[in-house]
Amino acid sequence: MQTRLTETYSDNTIGKEADTILRSCVHCGFCNATCPTYQLLGDELDGPRGRIYLIKQLLEGAETTRKTQLHLDRCLTCRACETTCPSGVQYNRLLDIGRQLTEKQNLRTWQERLVRKVFNLVLPYPSRFAPLLSLSRMLKGLLPAYMRSNIPARMIATKWPDSKQQRRMIILSGCVQSITHPDINNAAARLMDRLGVSLIKSGNSGCCGAISYHLTSLYDARKQMRRNIDAWWPEINEGAEAIVITSSACTAMVKDYGHILRDDPDYAEKAARISELTRDLGEVLANENLSALRFSSTIKRIAFHAPCSLQHGQQLPDIVDRILINGGFELTPIPDAHLCCGAAGTYSLLQHGLSSTLLANKLTALESGSPQCIVTANIGCLLHLQGKSKVPVQHWVELLESSIAN
Ligand code: SF4
Ligand code: SF4
Repeated sequence: MQTRLTETYSDNTIGKEADTILRSCVHCGFCNATCPTYQLLGDELDGPRGRIYLIKQLLEGAETTRKTQLHLDRCLTCRACETTCPSGVQYNRLLDIGRQLTEKQNLRTWQERLVRKVFNLVLPYPSRFAPLLSLSRMLKGLLPAYMRSNIPARMIATKWPDSKQQRRMIILSGCVQSITHPDINNAAARLMDRLGVSLIKSGNSGCCGAISYHLTSLYDARKQMRRNIDAWWPEINEGAEAIVITSSACTAMVKDYGHILRDDPDYAEKAARISELTRDLGEVLANENLSALRFSSTIKRIAFHAPCSLQHGQQLPDIVDRILINGGFELTPIPDAHLCCGAAGTYSLLQHGLSSTLLANKLTALESGSPQCIVTANIGCLLHLQGKSKVPVQHWVELLESSIAN
């Protein structure tokens, strides 16, 4: 694709990155075929190729309008288009740039700005999110139906293993997951302990930065990233082998720290090292020897919902499937497994209509093979599916760990 960027962009880092990405697109349109929003809305501007054109026009000096921002807002950042693209276009990075440019124009209504501000101030911080969740449970009957179904039941965390193994890995505590489903990391820690690895929780770490980043609050996102790096660095110096993450959207974000902080003179090098060391739980277990463990469960038939951040964002499409099959589970077939469930971080709250259509379609697909339960690998998908699913939904490591017989 030919470009004629304005002087403002032709000579800065953002403009140069965008230009390289734009030039790699041959506007073939293959990506539209797997784009969930293009499939639902049928509008070229709600597909990846159209969004790429819109961002190109912005960089070439076109007026930024609310309509442009709306088409960019409707993107799920599911990255199915990147998996499909034969030219390797880094759409996700280009969208980040487009969103930053439109956000700077301050085109949103005050109500939209307020909602986004509240999400940004509350969701990434467990000490703020926990009381809000408790209050929501108390006032559940007064909330709109779509919000009610997203409020999870209270869960009691089970045991964190005592043992101190010689091999150590850091685990991301995260934000929303640590309050709504604390048992996911605990199950991962017990499983890893059986394999001779202690998972270390670092008290000063927190949200990976994804919520703020995708709300285009880059200042807050970078602050959260630097805080995590500072919290993990001493453990890395002490020999921690990896940073293991149980929520695939968070893994994809931390794997991107190196890119996002590349111009930060104090953190660029450390951020690149953190990204190198970051592994999704599935990647970690795929490299461990599980043959000494015996798995036995009354649950046999399961549907695995592969989050977009796992299959497209990290390009790890089958890694969890193989672990579950080796654990003795039968995975039911899922039509259109490449399509997003509509969770996409705060998308389910900000783009409720599209999100609920995608959720209904996804549940139909997941339930079509009559599974006893649905498992997934990302907290956002888990909460989203759990709200409406007819069968139980849990994280795959909870099911796997609870089925260990010895
Ligand atoms: S992003 Fe890729 S698939 Fe889509 S139009 Fe460009 S080159 Fe084609
Ligand atoms: S990231 Fe997903 S929703 Fe956005 S353009 Fe690509 S395929 Fe469509």
